[in-house]
Amino acid sequence: MSAPVTVRTRFAPSPTGFFHIGGARTALFNWLYARHTGGNFVLRVEDTDKERNNEEFLRVIYDSLQWLGLDWDEGPGAGGIVGPYKQSERGEVYREYLKKLQDTGRVYEKEDALWFRLEGKREIIREKYKDGDNILDREVERVNAAPVIVHDIIRGDVRRAEDRDFVIVRANGEPGFHFVNVVDDIAMKITHVIRGEDHLSNTSKHIELYNAFGVTPPIFAHIPLILKSDGKGKMSKRDRGSLVEEYRARHFLPEALRNFLCLLGWTPKNGQEILPISEIISQFELTDVHQANARFDEKKMCFFNQQYLRALPETVYYSKAKKILREARLVNDAVSPVYTDAVLALVRDKLSGLEDIPARTGCFFSENYPFDPKTRESLEKKGNPAEKIRRLIPVLEELDNLDDEAAFDSALARVAAEYADKPGEYYAPLRFAVSGVGGGPHLHAMLRLLGKERVIARMRRFIQG
Ligand code: GLU
Repeated sequence: MSAPVTVRTRFAPSPTGFFHIGGARTALFNWLYARHTGGNFVLRVEDTDKERNNEEFLRVIYDSLQWLGLDWDEGPGAGGIVGPYKQSERGEVYREYLKKLQDTGRVYEKEDALWFRLEGKREIIREKYKDGDNILDREVERVNAAPVIVHDIIRGDVRRAEDRDFVIVRANGEPGFHFVNVVDDIAMKITHVIRGEDHLSNTSKHIELYNAFGVTPPIFAHIPLILKSDGKGKMSKRDRGSLVEEYRARHFLPEALRNFLCLLGWTPKNGQEILPISEIISQFELTDVHQANARFDEKKMCFFNQQYLRALPETVYYSKAKKILREARLVNDAVSPVYTDAVLALVRDKLSGLEDIPARTGCFFSENYPFDPKTRESLEKKGNPAEKIRRLIPVLEELDNLDDEAAFDSALARVAAEYADKPGEYYAPLRFAVSGVGGGPHLHAMLRLLGKERVIARMRRFIQG
């Protein structure tokens, strides 16, 4: 009996643009499957196209993978015995494999490039092609090659006839995508190629190459496309919300985004969608990945983020939130940490994400908070808010402090009674005067935290306009 083969998956990004949600999902599925099987997850950088590659894009890929907790066992920074892991450094490996392919007699030169010859009867056909806005036609050679069956673990058997020879080394001397992709999967002993469905149409070429090298192809798993929220078309790098770093900059919780990405094409067994990554790892099977396209639902992702935020241990929440407050220059070392924690505790259940923190807490840390014009307009429709605040000042001044909620409520009720108003008509103007907005945490808790002096100073400034 032969020893079981260790699963080896890989994520093979081309750093030609910012890191897209689709790329992150591909990396994630490879990582999940490697972790599920106790195998290895390899990171390989496909950077042969020198003109389009860029170091900054590569840095973003590394940072985003780390941020999402997708650690690679082999690859740049991690090492490994089948490296180097950047295609730009693997020239020697490609020369060696090119020689092997040339020995099969199936490589020929045309227009300074090296081509791979398919086996089959050849004929010349005319085909249309686009040249700018013009549709032109040209003569091309077609090969009636035997059809290649791609056995895909998700898509089933996909039959494709490869009908063209293809380039393996370009005229500029750089090895082409299909060639290096297959050579590396062979040399790196990849057992499972898990990638976006947009590569399914390349796979028959890849199988032709495996056959020519005399190597058994890996298992292929082409994962479904991600459609935009409205279901109209594929999510592209230009779509809002499509880049991983946007979520990072918006202080999304990486565990929430990762959990959400797991569901783009896969469903947990018992239907419970928010679950720890350890549980997802134990459930994740490639055979359960859907064939149907996934839909990117931004609202659902925000909901996940909120649920994860609710579940954060208090100390973790405080430390993440304080970092944001410092970045927003709302707090510095002069602000009491006890006060800051109290503010953060007060607003926590109003937050839809950590990104709301500066807006939700700004009025606790600065006297320079903005006034929302819409709230002002709606308050003015119900009477003059400045006048109501003017009436409240003397009664609140009479209180020793604002700690006692019952005393505060009865002070407001006295003023309301004096002017034959309902007490409720005083709460909204007061909230607006001290915070600049129409909603927020419990009013009395907020006033108590701000303290009598600050509240009254704000009320005075408010009536002065
Ligand atoms: N470098 C290819 C890409 O970024 C990946 C190819 C593959 O996964 O086989 O689309």
